[in-house]
Amino acid sequence: MAKHLNLLPIIKLKSTYYFFILLISLTACREDHSKKRIEKVLSEPVKKAIIKPRDSDWVELHSLDSSFVYDIRYATTNNFVHKKMYPCAKCYVRRVVAEALLKVQKELRTKSLRLKLFDCYRPGKVQKALWAIRPDPRYVADPKKGSMHNRGLAVDLTIIDANGKELNMGTDFDYFGKKAYHAYKKLPDTVIKNRLYLKSIMQKYDLEPITSEWWHYSYRKKTYPVAQWIWRCPNTKK
Ligand SMILES: [Zn+2]
Repeated sequence: MAKHLNLLPIIKLKSTYYFFILLISLTACREDHSKKRIEKVLSEPVKKAIIKPRDSDWVELHSLDSSFVYDIRYATTNNFVHKKMYPCAKCYVRRVVAEALLKVQKELRTKSLRLKLFDCYRPGKVQKALWAIRPDPRYVADPKKGSMHNRGLAVDLTIIDANGKELNMGTDFDYFGKKAYHAYKKLPDTVIKNRLYLKSIMQKYDLEPITSEWWHYSYRKKTYPVAQWIWRCPNTKK
């Protein structure tokens, strides 16, 4: 009788041990499944806090800072092909570009200025359609190579003042001619000053110009593949 009584704590201990082993095994088996379930139920802000952002992530600029202004021309007919090329106006870029733009915007706002964007990520098939209309590599990148816009690494933009008025840059966006070149100097001093200001503030945050378009800047420290996806628009099915 005394012997049985002495064994009881050991049996209890063993049961507890096996119970925990079983629990750990079950947890391990379900780990992947649970992770997916957790990701599904987490709200976006919590997800953002625990899932490490990557430079290559696609980001809608508006979601990071609502102070940017947009005139996404390819979502209208007010562009050089006079056709609506996008189903709706959205500005997506890779996270690395979005973060650089946030810094530019922050600095501009100290002077009551802001960025106004004309184009951001451009799906590969839109590039193809533009090339079909204007196959000139000075102004439209050959879709065989793809442009920095197709990679989410380029933006077309200008600066606006506190009243929302664009600073005078000498030409409209997508003006195809020498007058839009950075090197073109037969322009009023204010225009030259404005272009230089845009160029200096963009370069400060690693967004580099090209020679033929005062509005085009790209991030060249990284490269990503050409993308084809198109954003969802309000009132459209998935
Ligand atoms: Zn561009």
